[in-house]
Amino acid sequence: MNVTSDLSGVISSGMCIGCGACEMADSSVKVSLSPNRLIYEPESAGSAAAEIGPFGVVRSVHLSQSTNNGRNMKASSGGLIKELLRHLLSSNQIDGVIALDHVGGIEFAARLVSSADDVDTLPGSIYHNLKQTPALQLLRDTPGRLAVVAIPCQLEGLYAWVKQMAPELREKITITIGLLCGWQYSHHSINAMGEYLGYNPEEIADISYRGGGPVGKLTVTTRDEKVFTASRRVDFGYQVAFDRHFNTSRCHVCINHSNFLADLVVGDAWLPSTVFTKTGISLVVCRTALAETALQSLVDSGSCVSIQVGEDEIRESQTDRVVFGEFAYAYAAYLREIGLHTPELHGPNEGFGTLKPRRQVTKFHRELVRKQSLMAARRYKYMKLRKATLELRGYIMRYVRWFMVRILRVKSLSGQRKEISRDRFSGFS
Ligand SMILES: Cc1cc2nc3c(=O)[nH]c(=O)nc-3n(C[C@H](O)[C@H](O)[C@H](O)COP(=O)(O)OP(=O)(O)OC[C@H]3O[C@@H](n4cnc5c(N)ncnc54)[C@H](O)[C@@H]3O)c2cc1C
Repeated sequence: MNVTSDLSGVISSGMCIGCGACEMADSSVKVSLSPNRLIYEPESAGSAAAEIGPFGVVRSVHLSQSTNNGRNMKASSGGLIKELLRHLLSSNQIDGVIALDHVGGIEFAARLVSSADDVDTLPGSIYHNLKQTPALQLLRDTPGRLAVVAIPCQLEGLYAWVKQMAPELREKITITIGLLCGWQYSHHSINAMGEYLGYNPEEIADISYRGGGPVGKLTVTTRDEKVFTASRRVDFGYQVAFDRHFNTSRCHVCINHSNFLADLVVGDAWLPSTVFTKTGISLVVCRTALAETALQSLVDSGSCVSIQVGEDEIRESQTDRVVFGEFAYAYAAYLREIGLHTPELHGPNEGFGTLKPRRQVTKFHRELVRKQSLMAARRYKYMKLRKATLELRGYIMRYVRWFMVRILRVKSLSGQRKEISRDRFSGFS
């Protein structure tokens, strides 16, 4: 059950069944034996902020940053996840964290982290496709109160399995920390970069995509300790190997970019008002009271700076295309029409935004089929040539759009939105 509005109607009508779902969804609510009715019911109505809107359940939205410069520089956006995990472990609110760690080469898998000092050994964002079974095994086999860090589809799978096969595991999950997620990439991206940069993918010892500033570099280290890097913003090869045709097919129909199932969601604050940052700033969505309390504790202890903003900043940072599933809903409908297997994905964002036109969707599909066959034939060099010729217009337009929106701030100039003033970011770097 979800809390879709406040609980005053349930309380006044005496219709409570004492299931406890409201208590689980909103930690400000306590279910207890009513002295008059002598049935279990909520003591208070809870927060109307728990209503489900197009961004899911949103209690509050924040822009936040770790005040530990080293941690922030190593992190993917503002270093918020590591600060949160350290706080939850050291304040004994949880016994362990299930989070992704490096195994070897390009392999990463969830592992159990039980001490605050161990948190900093976790990697930043890993953008290639991974097997997620280890997180489920850890959840099944580890006793105690756990935090789980996960991308949206990982949480979808985890909760589907828990609900159907192992409901008793639900109570172990104290908090879920979700990443906002636009996409992940097949291993073709890593192989293509190998051809462009000159490394052998079989010889990779380590790989990272972020760190060292707000955008970061792809850094590949091979077993003979050679290091290959590519700027994620300007390297042409990177734009070829990490364009959306290299995504796993499921990402194209994903409508859950905002990670609706997580208690607290962290992403990059890609906003005109945060362009000044040298280290990175996180966009944080708190969906539960516990998430808000944890974030507030980080501010109170001085481990992070944070300002509260509105839902509009989620939209501006991530674009309507992904937040409202403008492309994904249209593409899923098209795939169903042409008889291809397509998951039924419906989220609270359905019906918001403007669906992308059929023309764009069919063109994308044609292009995807073509590029997937080029990838299967390992024709990565030809794909680079193709991007520099056939696809050049679209490629240049992306930069033009970025410059107009983020740097020239055309939306503010034309009165479409109001940017957050620089004074509010005091203490941010
Ligand atoms: C595949 C992917 C796509 C993303 N797409 C977007 C996007 O479109 N827009 C956006 O704003 N943000 C996106 N993010 C989130 C963003 O890159 C940062 O991860 C997020 O802002 C958290 O930053 P941080 O500095 O707080 O985390 P950090 O302090 O860097 O910590 C990262 C944490 O995430 C965990 N982690 C890393 N990779 C994965 C993974 N693949 N699966 C599960 N856990 C992982 C690590 O274990 C670590 O605990 C994406 C992340 C991933 C992994």
